[in-house]
Amino acid sequence: MLRSSSNPFPSSALTWRDGIGTRLGGAICVVFIACLLAVCASIYGLYHQYLGFRQLSGQYFERAMTAAELTRDAELIAAEVFESMVGADRSDRARGSNSENLIRVYQSVRASLDNAVDAPEVEHLAQIDRWQQPYFESLKRLDGRLGDEYRLKSDELLRIDRLFVQLQALEQQVDAVLANGNPDDIRYINHALAALGYCTTAMRAERVGQLRQLRQSALAQLDLLSELTLNSKVLVEFHESLEALVREVFEERQPALIAERATLATARETRVLAQKLTSSTFNYYLQLKQSAKEAVEAHQAMVVNTMIGLVVFALFMVALTLFMLLYIRRIIIQRLHQLYLAVNAHMEGNTASIPHEGRDEISLLGHAFEQFASARYTAESALRDAREETESANRKLQQANEQLRELSEIDELTGIANRRTLDRHLEQEYRRLQRHNGELSLMMIDIDWFKEYNDQYGHPAGDRCLRQVAQCLSQQVRREGELVARYGGEEFCIVLPGAGEVDAEACARRLQEAVSDLGLEHPRGKVTLSIGIATVHPECGLSEARLFEEADRALYQAKTEGRNCVVNGANLEPNLQ
Ligand code: GH3
Ligand code: MG
Ligand code: MG
Repeated sequence: MLRSSSNPFPSSALTWRDGIGTRLGGAICVVFIACLLAVCASIYGLYHQYLGFRQLSGQYFERAMTAAELTRDAELIAAEVFESMVGADRSDRARGSNSENLIRVYQSVRASLDNAVDAPEVEHLAQIDRWQQPYFESLKRLDGRLGDEYRLKSDELLRIDRLFVQLQALEQQVDAVLANGNPDDIRYINHALAALGYCTTAMRAERVGQLRQLRQSALAQLDLLSELTLNSKVLVEFHESLEALVREVFEERQPALIAERATLATARETRVLAQKLTSSTFNYYLQLKQSAKEAVEAHQAMVVNTMIGLVVFALFMVALTLFMLLYIRRIIIQRLHQLYLAVNAHMEGNTASIPHEGRDEISLLGHAFEQFASARYTAESALRDAREETESANRKLQQANEQLRELSEIDELTGIANRRTLDRHLEQEYRRLQRHNGELSLMMIDIDWFKEYNDQYGHPAGDRCLRQVAQCLSQQVRREGELVARYGGEEFCIVLPGAGEVDAEACARRLQEAVSDLGLEHPRGKVTLSIGIATVHPECGLSEARLFEEADRALYQAKTEGRNCVVNGANLEPNLQ
């Protein structure tokens, strides 16, 4: 019977903090939080990459492109100025509208670059602004100068035309003067040509000094012409217009030359300012390009850092997962395996310590199994004791049964088979002989004059005599199937299976001899036996009862014939059938 002992660690002692579920839940929470952190860190990194990319595309790249556009516009303006200076189309209208358009485009591009991103850009924009105003003012000045120069040039062209007309007119007078033969007229033509030549040269003079020398030479020629006495009226008229033209050429040429020089000076200044502005815009472009490059590098570094961070997170997650697996293996798998081994060992009947360290469900299981094993050992011990007691009782019962059997089968006085055994044995042998068609003899033996023996020597001696006779008979009849039994009182029966009349009789005589040889004293001499024999063939249908009757009858006959003799019932066989 199982005995329940008190559990040192009942389940009620387990708090929620101790449970494996709590610890596993904690471990899963740690992994989940780590995953969440990794996802947050990834999102944070991606967001920063997005911001960096937006900054790159929205600020540096776009502004750098705009700065490049600004530089191009500044250069276009400079090219337009150059075109204005040296190009074929120098008309007022075309020049002014082109410059204004370009300046307008430039200013709109510049306006889009307001809201500088950082201090260096502010500085560059300030520098651009510092140069652009003087540049545009210089452009306006240059435009004005070019306008003035254009007008002066137009006048000059008119004067050139007039010079050409004068020369043609002079050429037409040459033949008439030569025909006339007046030396002053001829001289006039030479000096007038010289004056017109000076004028023509003056139209191309680049320096004021040269112009001054040409003017002096031209005026000297005019002076010479005025001293001449002209015959030709045409020449006189021509001289008036020539003098006016020469004076006009030299008077107008100097302002034109000054205007040209001023235009050149303004163009040079404009060119310098254009270079400054272009240089500033280009520097600004370079600075933005550098900023964009640095931002790209920073962005790349951020991408690399994000990737390194993700790799570190991944490694951390791997390490954390491994740690969690080891932790779960240590707190659950290993302990369950140890518990399984202990349970297995106990199931195989071996003793093994049952692990129950800690304060969780597995510990509860270990304690419970320890309780169970203890109860089982107690029960097994009780069962063993009960079995031993049962076996002992069985042995005693067996002995008692054996004794009982002996008592029921063995004659208590003589120690040979009793009447019950005789009846059973005879029945068995009878049936066997019926199957094998054999013979069987029954011998009935009676001690002669035994009452006198008792009377003479007393009953205890009589008992001893009975035992000695019984032992003697048993020693003589030992073949298989043969049995010696006490029939009752001083009478014995012997079953002789397979023995016919002759064999039975021979056996009877051998028994008489053996008893006689014992030399047991008797008031009439020695103890003797009377023996009656009945032999039967079972197929004849003779029953055991009839066999006894016939043997008893043969014994009776032996008694009546004087005792100490053998009567073979074979003589009675015909009557039986
Ligand atoms: P007979 O030759 O005709 O057989 O004469 P008998 O005296 O042997 O026969 P009887 O029937 O007259 O007497 C048998 C005696 O055997 C009587 C009895 O005292 C004795 N006897 C029977 N059983 C026992 C026993 O168990 N022990 C002893 N000592 N004597 C017994
Ligand atoms: Mg008798
Ligand atoms: Mg007798």
